Amino acid sequence: MGWQFEPVGIIHSCFAEKFAIPRQPLLAPAATATLELLPPYDQPEALEGLEGVSHLWLLFVFHAAGHGSKHLRVRPPRLGGNQRIGVFASRATHRPNPIGQSVVRLDGIVDGRLQLSGVDLLDGTPVLDIKPYVPYADAVEGAVNPLAPAPPAPIAVHWQPEALLQAEAEQQRLQQPLVTLVEQCLAQDPKPAYQQPDASREYGVRFWDVNVRWHYPAPNQICVLGVSRA
Ligand code: SAM
Repeated sequence: MGWQFEPVGIIHSCFAEKFAIPRQPLLAPAATATLELLPPYDQPEALEGLEGVSHLWLLFVFHAAGHGSKHLRVRPPRLGGNQRIGVFASRATHRPNPIGQSVVRLDGIVDGRLQLSGVDLLDGTPVLDIKPYVPYADAVEGAVNPLAPAPPAPIAVHWQPEALLQAEAEQQRLQQPLVTLVEQCLAQDPKPAYQQPDASREYGVRFWDVNVRWHYPAPNQICVLGVSRA
């Protein structure tokens, strides 16, 4: 028994690295991407009927997470990295078939490309399928998940004045909401939950072609130290 899937499209997103990508979609509404459809799906017919649809389900390959994992239990970073749960109780990227699913906002269609926001997808992610979000079926009233009862509480993000000026200049050049993106992503606290922040330690990540550096002056506080062209 076996199936072989070919991608229908490729994601071009703000996330040049896995680090600092929110752990679920819609946590950073400023995280944008375009979805390029691949032949033969790069034709207007394939998108007929999407007018007015606000959100999509994307099924995609965790292409930067290896070829799948046979482990029955995983240690989700959200739970501090030392508690194990069953792989099927988690959204971990290392799973039997490295397939992810995300609800993203559809902002428009320009030149046959889907303009998306709220994504949690690495640049270059292959997309296996696209389906419209169906509110009456997909938003389940009264649904519960004790392991993930609520979105993580955001932490405070401050800027060194010079870093903010640099971010504003890069934002102007990119014509993308870089300042808000940095604030929304860092507010999710990208560092592994088991790591005790040490004010002298610097962290960094790349959004588009821009490197962003920060540190933790206090446990639940981030200060952006610098923004520069990669
Ligand atoms: N919403 C999806 C799901 O539930 O299947 C993804 C959840 S997974 C916990 C989110 C993480 O996947 C992100 O923080 C990012 O680091 C990672 N990720 C995103 N795109 C990826 C890709 N193409 N390959 C490997 N990891 C990826």
